[in-house]
Amino acid sequence: MSISYIAKSIAESPTLKLNEEAQLLSERGEPVIHLGIGEPKNKAPISAILSSAAKLNSASIKYSPTDGILSLKKAIVRYTEENYDKVVEPENVIVSSGAKQAIFNVLYAILNPQDQVIILAPYWVSYPEMVKMVNGVPVIVTPEDGGLHPRMADIIEAVSPYTKAIIVNSPNNPSGLVFSEDFVREVVEFCERKGIYVIMDDIYHKLVFNGKKAASCYRFAKRGIEESRLIVINGVSKLYGMTGFRIGWAIAQRKLVEVMTNIQAQTTSCASVILQAAAEGALTGLQSVVESLRLTIENNRDIMIEELDSFNGVKVTKPDGTFYCFPDFRAYNMNSVELSEFLLKKALVVTVPGKEFGMEGFLRLSYAGSVKDITEGIARMKWALDPESPNEIYVGDRKMMRDWL
Ligand code: PMP
Repeated sequence: MSISYIAKSIAESPTLKLNEEAQLLSERGEPVIHLGIGEPKNKAPISAILSSAAKLNSASIKYSPTDGILSLKKAIVRYTEENYDKVVEPENVIVSSGAKQAIFNVLYAILNPQDQVIILAPYWVSYPEMVKMVNGVPVIVTPEDGGLHPRMADIIEAVSPYTKAIIVNSPNNPSGLVFSEDFVREVVEFCERKGIYVIMDDIYHKLVFNGKKAASCYRFAKRGIEESRLIVINGVSKLYGMTGFRIGWAIAQRKLVEVMTNIQAQTTSCASVILQAAAEGALTGLQSVVESLRLTIENNRDIMIEELDSFNGVKVTKPDGTFYCFPDFRAYNMNSVELSEFLLKKALVVTVPGKEFGMEGFLRLSYAGSVKDITEGIARMKWALDPESPNEIYVGDRKMMRDWL
């Protein structure tokens, strides 16, 4: 079989392999706990359901304009004004099938072969692969101080004449960190001076805790949107827990939106009208659903951090946003893939190896699930790894003995 170089260079996801193993174990009746999940358990907002059901009932399900239904784009314009204090026009908005497609379209639109894109570790797994898919070169920048918050000095060192863009994801998947305002300002100002595109992946920007707010990049931009290389990505997946509806969007200068519209026209034509109707329903419906989801996740975060704090050897930075945390397990194993496999085999707990996010020795744990899964999952991990924890545990109704420490 003949496969393209690009396709060959796209990494297989270790998460998928772990998920498959977890699935097989679950099918055999094993009580697997999933701390790897990237979606909350909530029901979709009723306004989203009614709106998409009304569209479906109309039985007139056709193509929409490639860049999205105008009424949805207007709802996104309103959302941007309310949440970013930024007035944009519908022509600055393109609706895609998920934030994922929006990011891909941006990269396809701006990169020439060999152009470099700065990606800040720990990063969302898809960024480097997407950059490679459009013949670009991912340049990974890891904080030199060993922390999880990116540093401007490290970025400046990595910038070259080939640097075309930087991707900033705050609140961050996987660390849960909300980047400081100073950092966002420095990135926006530096890139504006250098003519580098800033792709702000803001998919988690409303999922923040303790009254914090994720910084709006627009505050620091000196140029108007039509002269700006600032692109903001968003969507309904995390905002309303509507991951399966696959609606995301990008806000950018009109010319770039036009190019992205051409790309989308030749690939998917448009996002599904039923799902666009759902997104519009969510955006124009009662927004208390966002707050109630946020409160549930904040409570889950507190429980997970409390459990992890009592875990000898594990170091964790309390996340200010998202539904992930990214504890340091190097005291137990430097190899996160090995550690993840061990935890699945011995404790029946699914975690995601830090290696996937560009940081070895860490594990990404999700607190999007139930409180019971969080407490039981961490208890099992403690039992499997910490010699000071009791060496007996109940996994389901089975009493298990630890015989490896
Ligand atoms: N960006 C980040 C950082 C994410 O974590 C995700 C979802 N896991 C996405 C983008 C993609 O979101 P969507 O479901 O809208 O494609």
